[in-house]
Amino acid sequence: MANPSDSTGFESSLSLRLDAVRAQSLWRHLRRIDKISGHQVETEGRSLRNFAGNDYLGLTSHPALIEAATQSIRDFGCGSAASRLISGSLAPHHALEEAIADFKGTQAAVSFSSGLSAAIGTLPALIGYDDVVVLDRLVHACCVDAARLSGARLRVFRHNDIEDLERILRWTSSLPRTAQKSPKVLVVTESLFSMDGDTAPLREIVSLKERYGAWLMVDEAHATGVLGPNGRGRVVELGLTERVEIQMGTLGKAIGSAGGFIAGSRALSDTLINRARSFLFSTAPVPAAVAAACAGLQIAAALEGDRLRQRLRSHTITVLNTAAKAGFVSTSCSQIIPLHVGDELHAVRVSDELRSLGILAPAIRHPTVARGRARIRLTVSAAHSDADLTALDQALKNLSSRCPPALLSAPLSKEPLD
Ligand SMILES: *Cc1c(COP(=O)(O)O)cnc(C)c1O
Repeated sequence: MANPSDSTGFESSLSLRLDAVRAQSLWRHLRRIDKISGHQVETEGRSLRNFAGNDYLGLTSHPALIEAATQSIRDFGCGSAASRLISGSLAPHHALEEAIADFKGTQAAVSFSSGLSAAIGTLPALIGYDDVVVLDRLVHACCVDAARLSGARLRVFRHNDIEDLERILRWTSSLPRTAQKSPKVLVVTESLFSMDGDTAPLREIVSLKERYGAWLMVDEAHATGVLGPNGRGRVVELGLTERVEIQMGTLGKAIGSAGGFIAGSRALSDTLINRARSFLFSTAPVPAAVAAACAGLQIAAALEGDRLRQRLRSHTITVLNTAAKAGFVSTSCSQIIPLHVGDELHAVRVSDELRSLGILAPAIRHPTVARGRARIRLTVSAAHSDADLTALDQALKNLSSRCPPALLSAPLSKEPLD
């Protein structure tokens, strides 16, 4: 292809912005993966042990999911051909939503093409300009964007800080109210945080939001299939199902397929079907992904799921110990294990170093996390082998002997830096 003429300054404008990204060590590029087998990936002519994915139970390549997807393609074709309300509401979509509602113990569930589109559709369907969204400082970007899109006023509370949340809720109760209109308040948090691997104090948050008459949405993206009885999530584990208005999850992580969902009351699902724009105006999720998700949920909820979670737990403990031995301080109590590095450039170097030692583990930087809080994010899976865990142990030892951990672990201030 010839170089674009750039008579309108489009190319030079983009180049300037990209230069700034590079200068801050925030440059991202795609690396092609040619082959995956178990937790080994082949990329750029090398084989690496994958500590970067969210396939926590190893279900993406499970024979039952592959068979379900294949059968569904035979029965329904490769595409859904229309949005659900036009002509795309296929039997697999209905079966999946019944399975999700059953899994979560809710009246109903609605599925979306991704967790991101579930969030983007849901918040604006429920709240608007007169309302307030209160977000934990560390919630996923899709909830932040969804909150912005709703037009509601945004407030952010310090991560997992109940007192700070109460301070904001107290403020919302002083907002003007009329007989016709009183602002709705929606609190949004994650149950298991995606980049820190810690959990939210959900019981306390539920009591608090009830005291102030606020609603609560819990994003269970990383807890679905992993936490709670049969992997049903943290809300179920804590017995809070009837008290959390909106539960969200993804089918693309531990469940091994793709898609997102919202689970809750019948009124909630009817509202989303009628008002969520990412549901109304998007072609329905492809039958293969939906059928695979259904099979993934089935395995997660069965004895096999319990066995996989046990294996995941034991691998998690091994890797937490490995990280601690190598001198890393971790905030995590889960399969998501961040190694806090701090500086962006340093994080990239550590990630490259691990890569040269045969380990795939990404440097997570702004805007995924706050500036100056860059980290290596290790994720553990039931699919890892003992050899994978030993190789990681060796690599971290090797790394910390060449580069003392004091330099690697930036001090953790309680407050994010921006
Ligand atoms: C991955 C993720 C999502 C988005 O889910 P997708 O199905 O990948 O779009 C939402 N919330 C959190 C916390 C996530 O980690």
